[in-house]
Amino acid sequence: MTDVELSLDACIKCNICVSYCPPAKVTDLFPGPKYAGPQAQRFRSPRGPSPDASVDYCSGCRVCNLVCPAGVRIAELNAKARARMYRDRGGVPLRNRLLGRSELLGRLAHPVAPLANYLLHNPISRWLADAWLGIDRRAPLPRFSLHTFPGPVRSKWSPASNPRRRVVYFHGCATRYYEPWIGRAAVAVLERNGMEVVIPPQNCCSLPMLSNGEFDAARRYYDGNLRTLAPLAEAGCEIVGTSTSCTLTLKEEAPDLLEADSDAGRLVAASTSDICEYLVRLHEAGALDTAFRPLELSVLYHAPCQLNAHRVGHPAADLMRLIPGLTVIESEHPCCGIAGTYGLKKEKYAIGMAVGQPLFDRVQQSGARLSVCDSETCRWQIVHGTGLPSVHPIEILAWSYGLGEPLAIRKG
Ligand code: SF4
Ligand code: SF4
Ligand code: SF4
Repeated sequence: MTDVELSLDACIKCNICVSYCPPAKVTDLFPGPKYAGPQAQRFRSPRGPSPDASVDYCSGCRVCNLVCPAGVRIAELNAKARARMYRDRGGVPLRNRLLGRSELLGRLAHPVAPLANYLLHNPISRWLADAWLGIDRRAPLPRFSLHTFPGPVRSKWSPASNPRRRVVYFHGCATRYYEPWIGRAAVAVLERNGMEVVIPPQNCCSLPMLSNGEFDAARRYYDGNLRTLAPLAEAGCEIVGTSTSCTLTLKEEAPDLLEADSDAGRLVAASTSDICEYLVRLHEAGALDTAFRPLELSVLYHAPCQLNAHRVGHPAADLMRLIPGLTVIESEHPCCGIAGTYGLKKEKYAIGMAVGQPLFDRVQQSGARLSVCDSETCRWQIVHGTGLPSVHPIEILAWSYGLGEPLAIRKG
C-alpha cells in the first residue's frame, strides 16, 4: 500500500473535513470527504467492487486535506478512486479526455485562433457541446491566443552563464496558449531582479489528466517534464511557475497519484516553487528589488485552493503589500468552484457556481476595481461570476515596476 492509502488509518472520524468541503455544503450528490475518502477506501481493493460514482463529485480542491487534523490524504484517495471507477466502467469519457488535453487543444487551435475562438464560443457550438459532450454552455471557456508564449526566441539557454542567477520558468498551457502576457510579465519581473530566465521545452504538467481520471496519459506527460527539468535542477536551477496548479503538480500531485517515486522526481519537486513564493524568498534574503512605483487602487486577492495546498501562506498578497498605495483585500473563501475543469461539466456547473457565489459576492461588495488570483481557471471563473477583470499577481508587480500595465486594465 502507498502512503496515500495508508493515511486512511489515521482518520479519527471527527467530521471536520465534512464541515469544510465546498461541494458537500451545496449539493447532496456528494456524500462528503469522510465517506467518499477514508470510510469508502476501507472497502476498496483491486478485486473488490468498483468505487461508488458519487466520488466523481469531489472537485479535488484539497480543502479537506488542509483541515484534517490526522493528515488523511482524502483528495488523493478520491482521485485514485475516480480513476479506478472509470477503468471499471469502460474508460474515461470523451468529454473528460478532451478537457484533460489542454496542451493538444492549444497546439491545434492557436494557428487558427480567430476561427477556433469563433467555433468554441458561438451559441450553436456551445449548445452542441452541452448536448453531446456535457460541457455546460454557460461555463467560462478561455480564448486561444494567436501568439503563443514564449515564441521562438526564448527557448534557448546558455550553459556558460552563472547558474546561481538562473531560473527555469514552467509556464504551463494557459500561459502558452491563452494568456502569453502573463509569461512576458513573469520574465520581465525575474529579469528586473537580475535573473537569467530559462524556458525549456515543456509538456502540460498533467494535472487535467490526473483530475479527469487518465493516469496512464498523465504519466507520459509527467515523465516528459522530468526528462527536461531534472538536468536543469541538477545544474542548480530553481524552477518557478505562474500557475499554482502546475507547480503543485510538479511538487507533489503527480508523484503521489502516479506512485512515481524517483530521484529525478524528488529533485524537480524540491527545486519547484510558485513564482511569488520564490520572490518572497528573494525578499527575505534582501535580494528583491523593492523600488515599486505607487499604485493607488484596491484589489481583491483570492488565494486559489491549489495555492493553499502548497502550504506556503499567501506570498502574492505579501508581495503586493510592498507596493505603496495598493490596498490588498483578501477573499477569505477557500474555492471559486471551478476546480480546474470540474465547473465546466454540465452536471457540476451549478455546484461550481454555488461554491463560488460567496466569493463573487465578496469581490463585488469589496469595492475593488479588479480581482487578483494566481490560478488561470479561477480567474476565468471569477470574471464569469462577477463581470470584473481578474489578473495574475505577477502582472501587478510588473505594473508597479513600470514594466507594463495588465492587459485586462488596458482593455478597460
Ligand atoms: S478535495 Fe475538495 S471536494 Fe474533494 S472531498 Fe476534499 S474538500 Fe471535498
Ligand atoms: S477530518 Fe480527517 S480525521 Fe476527521 S473525519 Fe475527515 S478524514 Fe477523518
Ligand atoms: S495545470 Fe498547468 S500545465 Fe497543467 S493544464 Fe493547467 S496550465 Fe497546463
